Amino acid sequence: TKPLEGKVAIVTGGSRGIGAAIVRRLAMDGASVAFTLANSKEKAEAITAEIELKGGRALAIQADSADAAALQRAIDKAADHFGSIDILVNNAGILLLNSLETFPLEDFDRMFAVNVRAVFAGTQAAAKHMHEGGRIITIGSVTAERSGFPTSAVYSMTKGAVAAMMRGIARDLGPRGITVNTIQPGPTETDMNTDPHANEMLKGLIALGRMGKDREIASLAAYLASSEASFITGASLTIDGGYLA
Ligand code: NDP
Repeated sequence: TKPLEGKVAIVTGGSRGIGAAIVRRLAMDGASVAFTLANSKEKAEAITAEIELKGGRALAIQADSADAAALQRAIDKAADHFGSIDILVNNAGILLLNSLETFPLEDFDRMFAVNVRAVFAGTQAAAKHMHEGGRIITIGSVTAERSGFPTSAVYSMTKGAVAAMMRGIARDLGPRGITVNTIQPGPTETDMNTDPHANEMLKGLIALGRMGKDREIASLAAYLASSEASFITGASLTIDGGYLA
């Protein structure tokens, strides 16, 4: 039998990149998977169709994470549709870079809303539906530990914030037997990293000499979601090919 047979997962921002890889992997491992998207409707439909073709169950729900009430409704809808929630993956995130002098405070608010506030709101909503053995997994970033370059202060702040938040929520939900962890990827090949010059420079800083692949991050998420990871909680797990090494 598959490791997540009978489980229900919801992944935020599952239409592209790391989130889409996590959706596919959790479905392959036997979970019924709901996921949110903001704009990429066609991509979301293609992922749902692909999973259903393989005999899995998937549900795409449009919900902008910046609208916490919409996100909470999406989570309740997923719970209604599949009967419960066992696994929440807080993945949706945005990267807005700018110099200190010109950084628009609107971008600060937008990034905080999507990368931090929505993680709290989503976790709040999902925890209501969860039982013993539940899993909350948040995609943070190595930028919580090392900003690395100018212009990334606010993004780094959001990723430091979620790591601290997950440690706190691990304490809140530990008594209910729910684990709460942060995955901190290093530079990963997605739409977030499409500048070839920047990517060449990043590769030079990574011990393994290449960027990560979305499915490699999904592999760690699948492990944390599984019963194998039952004693890991409040942890921030680095997966970066040795970028921080
Ligand atoms: P992508 O830009 O490739 O994909 C982002 C996904 O999040 C899309 O599915 C997008 O939906 C969704 N999303 C974005 N904004 C919103 C929103 N407001 N509401 C709902 N969904 C939204 O990013 P990655 O896959 O690279 O990043 C995923 C996570 O991993 C992020 O939290 C990011 O910070 C983190 N991360 C990424 C790293 C990297 O190098 N790529 C490294 C470390 C961490 P839609 O398609 O509809 O826009």
